[in-house]
Order: sequence, then C-alpha cells, then structure tokens
Amino acid sequence: SLTAGVVAVQGDVSEHAAAIERAAAAHGHEVTVRKIRESGIVPECDLLAMPGGESTTISRLIHGDGIAPEIQAHVAAGKPLLATCAGLIVASSNAGDDRVDELDVIDVSVERNAFGRQKDSFEAPLAVAGLDEPYPAVFIRAPAIDGVGEADVLATWDDRPVAVRDGPVIGTSFHPELTPDSRIHGLAFFENDASTVPALEDAQ
Ligand code: GLN
Repeated sequence: SLTAGVVAVQGDVSEHAAAIERAAAAHGHEVTVRKIRESGIVPECDLLAMPGGESTTISRLIHGDGIAPEIQAHVAAGKPLLATCAGLIVASSNAGDDRVDELDVIDVSVERNAFGRQKDSFEAPLAVAGLDEPYPAVFIRAPAIDGVGEADVLATWDDRPVAVRDGPVIGTSFHPELTPDSRIHGLAFFENDASTVPALEDAQ
C-alpha cells in the first residue's frame, strides 16, 4: 500500500486528499494519506501533493518547519509531486516575488495572479497531454507560467502554459482537486512517463 502526503501548512488540503484517494482507487492502489505539517513525514511518502492557497504563506511555513528540503529530496529521488496553483508558484524556479523562496523543482518562471481581474476565477475545458478528453480546469487567481526552461508543457490556455512537467513533478496553474475528475492526480502519480505522455508539440 502507498503512502501519500499532502503539504498541509495552508490551503485546500482535504480536497487533495480525496482526489488522491479517488485516483489511487481508479488505478487499483491502496493509499494512506498523511497531512504534512512538520518535518519527518515527507521521507515516508511515496507521492506528494502541494496545494493551492497563498504561496507566500506556504513558502514561509515549509521553510520554517524544515519541510522544504525534504520535498526537494523527494523529487531528487524521482518520486512524484503534484504542485497546484500556489503550490506551483512555490515549486517553480522563479516566482517573481521576494516573499517566495522557490523550491526550484519545476524549471519554470511564474507570474502570480496573472490571469486578469475579469478572469480571476473561471472554469475551462482544457486539452491536456496524456488525457483523452478535455479536463474541467478551475482557475482561481491563478499564476501564469511566463518562462519554461527544462520543463515540458502539457497544456496551454489562452496561448499560455498552464500545466507543466519537470521529471517526476507536474505543476498546474489550475485546481484539479476542486472537481470530482481525478485524472490529473492519476496522471501525476500513476501515469507520468515521458515516453507515453509526450509534451505538446506546438507549445513553447
Ligand atoms: N494567488 C495565489 C498566490 O499567489 C494562488 C491562488 C491559488 O492558489 N488559488 O499564492
């Protein structure tokens, strides 16, 4: 049986836990989900999710609690991480904000709150590499990915990347935990293989 961790210092944690349980069941895995509020738990986890919320707060708390280097070690060991919205900002290599101490595990730069006021919150049917049908993506004060280094682009919206992969890490601007559809969690944790899920050809 698998152990999953959800970074739980702040943000929408229980929704991620439920999505992980649905995705694991869909892939025939048993999973125990642990909420990560202090150091020492991440090393026991096979897979990790870092939720949305407020990136400056999440950054401050995971660095203060010693969780940040454990997440970096988890990724360095090739284990999967799904980082969503504020989680993506924290996981990026450049958040464009001094209050965020980036983990640098997804080689992208992001711009916080970049989807304009009129679009602060919206849902879009998103074509995602590796998924047969569009994914109902919920964007809430979402970051834009404004520079892609070594990462692969898996989805774009409005000509901007909104889902990226860097090895075992998948980052999304949107909130896959807020819909009953657990295919993004399934992709990140059980199907993330560059040979079967190639990056979008026409992006970046
Ligand atoms: N605007 C938030 C931030 O910059 C992210 C929004 C979210 O996670 N829904 O941290």
